[in-house]
Amino acid sequence: MPNWSSRRAFLASGLALPVAASANQTRLAGPPPESMVYGTLGKTGLKVSRLGFGGNVASDPSVLAAAFDAGINFFDTARIYNNGNSERMLGAVFAGKRKDVVLATKTTAKTKDQALLDLDASLKAFGTDYIDIWHLHGRNAPADVADGLFEAQRTAKQQGKIRFAGVSMHFTMKDMIPYLMKLGQTDIILCAYNFSMPPDMEMENTIAAARQAGIGIVAMKTMAGGFARIQLGDRLYTDNPKALTDKLKHPGAMVSAMKWAFRNKNVDNAIVGITDRDQLGENVAAVAQPFTDGDRQLLAAQMDFIRPLYCRMCGACAGACPRGLPVADMLRILSYADGYGQFSMARDRFLELPEPVRQVRCSDCADCAVHCPNGVRVPDRLRKAQAWLS
Ligand code: SF4
Ligand code: SF4
Repeated sequence: MPNWSSRRAFLASGLALPVAASANQTRLAGPPPESMVYGTLGKTGLKVSRLGFGGNVASDPSVLAAAFDAGINFFDTARIYNNGNSERMLGAVFAGKRKDVVLATKTTAKTKDQALLDLDASLKAFGTDYIDIWHLHGRNAPADVADGLFEAQRTAKQQGKIRFAGVSMHFTMKDMIPYLMKLGQTDIILCAYNFSMPPDMEMENTIAAARQAGIGIVAMKTMAGGFARIQLGDRLYTDNPKALTDKLKHPGAMVSAMKWAFRNKNVDNAIVGITDRDQLGENVAAVAQPFTDGDRQLLAAQMDFIRPLYCRMCGACAGACPRGLPVADMLRILSYADGYGQFSMARDRFLELPEPVRQVRCSDCADCAVHCPNGVRVPDRLRKAQAWLS
């Protein structure tokens, strides 16, 4: 079981902390670091802040630096984020502080050779000679983790290019996590985990079993689509003020969502995409706060709001579209645009879908064959994705 400690206890233990905490460093404006808590990531021995920084939406280097000053020492990105610029930005911000941060990145490669090429490109972009955690990116089924990919991770470890091997996934964690545990190749699992997930997804038990086996658990998608994050003036909503008003009804829901994830002691770290200092302050504050009845009520209201919009990633509709649409993937991509307000990232991900998938139009179907047991209005949402992103 993780042993969470405050910054003060961490300092007393003599373990490394972000160097910005030291007296000879200049702090950038940001939330104070005192509220950060730290623990050990599975059995890796890596000492990490419980809040991690998700690099997928970050574009302001000063926010990364402020996060570091606030005590965050875990930074996650991927080779494909922002065409490699996310890795490049992290490398630039933390040049000279390499040992004070834990860097995680990911590859979408399908073969060993391609994965190792990706890894070299990542090392170059970061400007480092090792990566702490190297994930196989978005592997939701056993077929997504060919033997050669684990071999690439073993080779990279032997060469000293990575310290730990990870796998990230968005769906079907109930099946995928036990599969990875059985194979015994994986040090860290990065998985979707949030308050919207129905009990039959068995996330609590699945995560607990993996953590018990010594695998480090990093949660993502904790904001369940981030639909309360749409800000006044967001260009996507300027033509729809009612939708904007509705979305702003639950301003505290995102903090409650973080607290919900942190209430689970088997979650070693939760990464959150942070774009500005207000979000940074909210998230840092949430780390040490208890999950309360008030949070529960807020999330219940948020749940009602997002029910038709947000895919819970349960995997129940896999293969249900006769025209071959990867429904859950497409819904996730749409939420980057209309939940998190990251249009260009959504479009980049959409354009990575196979050409035949991008050509399908849900408006051509008289009836939709996909029936979501969780209430997502699948054809409406996919029509929107196709209109906005194709
Ligand atoms: S659309 Fe519905 S059924 Fe399909 S993965 Fe999402 S929540 Fe599950
Ligand atoms: S409307 Fe439904 S069945 Fe038709 S293409 Fe879209 S998801 Fe598939």
